[in-house]
Amino acid sequence: MSHQTITTPAQLAEFCRQLSKAELIGIDTEFVSEDTYRPELCLVQVATHDELAVIDPYRAGDLKGFWQTLATGRHTTSQSSLHLLGKSSDDGWIVDSPGLKVFGLAHIPPDALAEAFVELRPLLGHCRFRDCRHDREPGCAVQQAVMAGRVAPFRVALLHRLVEESRAARDPVRRG
Ligand SMILES: [Zn+2]
Repeated sequence: MSHQTITTPAQLAEFCRQLSKAELIGIDTEFVSEDTYRPELCLVQVATHDELAVIDPYRAGDLKGFWQTLATGRHTTSQSSLHLLGKSSDDGWIVDSPGLKVFGLAHIPPDALAEAFVELRPLLGHCRFRDCRHDREPGCAVQQAVMAGRVAPFRVALLHRLVEESRAARDPVRRG
């Protein structure tokens, strides 16, 4: 199974073309509410039969085409509920698919998750320790960027949560 990270409008448009042909799509949304009054969409994971993708809404731009692809394609969106965000479908959909969370994350290695955060990419590989978790390790380039105000703390917090979920899903002992 391949995986990709989508960080530009062009990549998103191409991905939507692929998605429109998929028979089954699973999606999982990650929200943060830190520093905002209402939850803000921070990351979208999409799983099809043979592909996993992480969409960064901060960089990929308008997601309207993406929601429309989900709503109008030939596929069956695997979901537990579909909520309309505004008065019309133009305002977007929120699809909540809790059952797919583990399935989606289990295949994305923790290192690849960090790659999904565009602003962290230039920092990866610059920490003192090669296996740095970007948490409290000394000489961590990611934490230094947070301290310097160049990276938002909630984005790093989200990364830690996703990595933790990924590890839990991969480790059968902890899965219980
Ligand atoms: Zn680090």
